[in-house]
Amino acid sequence: MTVTIDKNAGFCWGVVRTIEIAERELENKGIVYSLGDVIHNTLEVERLNKLGLTTINHDDLTGLPKGSKVLIRAHGEPPQTYKTAMELGIDLVDATCPIVTKVQERVRKFVDKDFQVVIYGKQNHAEVIGINGVTGNTAIVVLTKEEALERVDFSKPTVLFTQTTMDKNEFKVIAEALREKLETLIIGSMEETAVEYHAKDTICGQVSGREKKLQEFARTHDVIIFTAGRKSSNGKVLYHIAHDVNEKTFFAETKDEINFSWFEGANSVGITGATSTPQWVMEEIKKLIEEKFEFQKN
Ligand code: SF4
Repeated sequence: MTVTIDKNAGFCWGVVRTIEIAERELENKGIVYSLGDVIHNTLEVERLNKLGLTTINHDDLTGLPKGSKVLIRAHGEPPQTYKTAMELGIDLVDATCPIVTKVQERVRKFVDKDFQVVIYGKQNHAEVIGINGVTGNTAIVVLTKEEALERVDFSKPTVLFTQTTMDKNEFKVIAEALREKLETLIIGSMEETAVEYHAKDTICGQVSGREKKLQEFARTHDVIIFTAGRKSSNGKVLYHIAHDVNEKTFFAETKDEINFSWFEGANSVGITGATSTPQWVMEEIKKLIEEKFEFQKN
């Protein structure tokens, strides 16, 4: 049996950058606080915790001594967090992924022009909380076209954005549904001027570009082990993409969740993961499977 790690799996450059910033700060300072888990992977968080990175939440900010270093992770934060930190004398280390920063800037431009902002994403996801913060928490956050059609005010200029790790096809469905509804309203009301509408695909290339390669990888192995943190939104999307082409795709957050009955009759196993999956986790799983089957042979 062969066991292969997907060369396209693992940290995206945004996460690599965040971790490098965290490690650099830890070398200089010793203790750095991270506002929320630095990435959605428990094992990597534990590794960084051992180096001195301490995870806190927003309520903890008020209890920190002045001058404390607080890391903003790749998902970014709403403007209110920067304001609070300044008032408390906290030294922010901003490791927001530049792609997320760019999305926030684009949203701000539309807010300044009084657009109604719709976000295709998860209401409680840190990145969405950050983007929504730019709108003064007035954005309409939706997951389906039904929700969008029900909640959007079609009399207002509207712009649709997306959380960077969402599904591209679903984004297109929502974008089209809003466009069609607006066109129907224009025809029905005999209005001459259309309400302005834009759909901005802000899905990250690191996620969408991976779909095809992942499908190919999943197709060419008998069994796929998909490893990621259970909280990873990107992980869920990618897991389903792999599972759709290979129903023998199994999810495991750590090597301890591997069930050897998954490999019955398999000649090849592929190990892959999310953009927040550390390389060393995939290697540990590979080693475990290889050792187990080696053991059985003896
Ligand atoms: S998936 Fe994309 S947007 Fe998200 S952290 Fe990585 S590079 Fe940045």
